[in-house]
Amino acid sequence: MADAPITQDVLTIPRKLPADGARNLVGLTRDQLREALISVGTPEKQAKMRTGQLWQWIYEKGVRDFAQMTNLAKDYRALMAEHFVIEVPQVVTREVSADGTRKYLVRIAGGHEVETVYIPEEGRGTLCISSQVGCTLTCSFCHTGTQKLVRNLTAGEIIGQVMLARDDLGEWPEPGKSPHDETRLLSNIVLMGMGEPLYNFEAVRDAMKIAMDPEGISLSRRRITLSTSGVVPEIARTAEEIGCMLAVSFHATTDEVRNKLVPINRRWNITELLEALRAYPKASNSERITFEYVMLKGVNDSDEDAHRLIELIRGIPAKINLIPFNEWPGAPYERSSNNRIRAFADIIYKAGYASPIRTPRGEDIMAACGQLKSATERARKSRRDIEKEAGLG
Ligand code: SAH
Ligand code: SF4
Repeated sequence: MADAPITQDVLTIPRKLPADGARNLVGLTRDQLREALISVGTPEKQAKMRTGQLWQWIYEKGVRDFAQMTNLAKDYRALMAEHFVIEVPQVVTREVSADGTRKYLVRIAGGHEVETVYIPEEGRGTLCISSQVGCTLTCSFCHTGTQKLVRNLTAGEIIGQVMLARDDLGEWPEPGKSPHDETRLLSNIVLMGMGEPLYNFEAVRDAMKIAMDPEGISLSRRRITLSTSGVVPEIARTAEEIGCMLAVSFHATTDEVRNKLVPINRRWNITELLEALRAYPKASNSERITFEYVMLKGVNDSDEDAHRLIELIRGIPAKINLIPFNEWPGAPYERSSNNRIRAFADIIYKAGYASPIRTPRGEDIMAACGQLKSATERARKSRRDIEKEAGLG
């Protein structure tokens, strides 16, 4: 695979080590946790049991202090505290929207910041998490794509967002209560925050495995949706190694328009993308794929687009999620009118597909889709750069 001209280098930094050199256990897979315990002197024979005990304290009970782990001997707790910490990223600010949406600005190692958004809905609550600081891709309608500085989040920083949201929601089970209570405040995860999750595959996979682990946070894989802009070679791997639901940022019905909106299309075009998507539901045992389609006035919102979309996805079990464009300062597009969006939705619905129009949530705090970008991130592209990349300049 040749280097894509459209990606920038991802800054890789070593796994976070707290100042005193203690290692953070959050984000380690079960195997990695076991190895870590052995490396500080846990006898091999006990390692599996100790791994299970720590796992439950960390992910089922939400405990961060080894001293509270009452089923571990006192000297073992001391050994743990000497070598390890249990840390989640720090919440710098928390904003609550008029509609109840909560946006967290989260600080991770190196002083970088990402955003995590909690969206309460009737009977469920969805956490939208970030997988990278910024994004190497430059979709021309997306605010995150204007952020230059990028680094991959570690698995600990990804699952840490789920843990800090549960802290804020007060959702760790009280002693004696079942952790598998179905009326959960945080019942769903979407990887739709900052970053392209499939450009940080291993960390995303490990974090989602932790989220799905039945002895911990225990979310069903059907309640986790990964959204990709179309990193074709990683789609089959997502089915095999994660098995979650898939959403794809489709957004256009011709390569010409998609090249401008979602520049990764120049690398893997619509035909290649659809081929990978056709194989997904069966391989992952998931019901259907969500096609995300941002409604941009005069760009991708005509009746012809709707008809072409239906033709393209024929045979794929799908739902089409229409997203009214969320504006951000300097954005080179406008949102399609409500009438246009409804007409578009109608054509798709009549062809037999669910075509919900996504209600923008948390717009007043810039928490809606595509509005995320760290407030402190100053390395901004100019409006001219954005327009040039969109082929509008
Ligand atoms: N990088 C991944 C996931 C994050 S983006 C991806 O692109 O799929 C989550 C969704 O929000 C994507 O469908 C994205 O295209 C959409 N989006 C980005 N900017 C938007 C904006 N300004 N208005 C509405 N949706 C937007
Ligand atoms: Fe990155 Fe997704 Fe935004 Fe495109 S839409 S720039 S892939 S975060």
